[in-house]
Amino acid sequence: MPPTDRLETDCSSCAALCCVMLAFDKGKDFAFDKNPGEPCRNLSGHSCTIHDSLTPKGFPGCVAYDCLGAGNRVVQEVFGGQSWQQEPRLIPVMMEAFSAMREVHKRIDYLRAAEMLPLTPRDEQKRRNFLDHLEQHRWSGPELNEFEFGLALEIDIFFHEIGK
Ligand code: SF4
Repeated sequence: MPPTDRLETDCSSCAALCCVMLAFDKGKDFAFDKNPGEPCRNLSGHSCTIHDSLTPKGFPGCVAYDCLGAGNRVVQEVFGGQSWQQEPRLIPVMMEAFSAMREVHKRIDYLRAAEMLPLTPRDEQKRRNFLDHLEQHRWSGPELNEFEFGLALEIDIFFHEIGK
């Protein structure tokens, strides 16, 4: 059954994808460098060991980050609840799927916001069709790989056209 809100992040249904897949540089937002695909050294299982003190410990960037529900959806929908921890070989494919699903969820966010625009009936129908598809489709890894070169472009062109 789909969650009530696709953009709601549910870390308990994820596999700490953001703490593995994303890269960051030592600076004001993060206390050390981390490469993409490298599990953060503060990670224990799927939990952050400094979750309650991220900002004082030098990780305000982690507090600010929101995957928009992409992580939990990828783990549950695309990988059937599997984790890179049991199957480290999944890290590269989970990275690709997570990155693409974040693009899907960013488009969901934009399409929802466009509800406030004075769209023509035809464009409003198009907006709803895009939104329904992105929210309800059960994505596979290969489909996600194609998303940015297909449907995402169509949606971006739609926004470009209505902005004229
Ligand atoms: S500091 Fe914690 S929240 Fe930030 S990436 Fe590492 S494990 Fe994840």
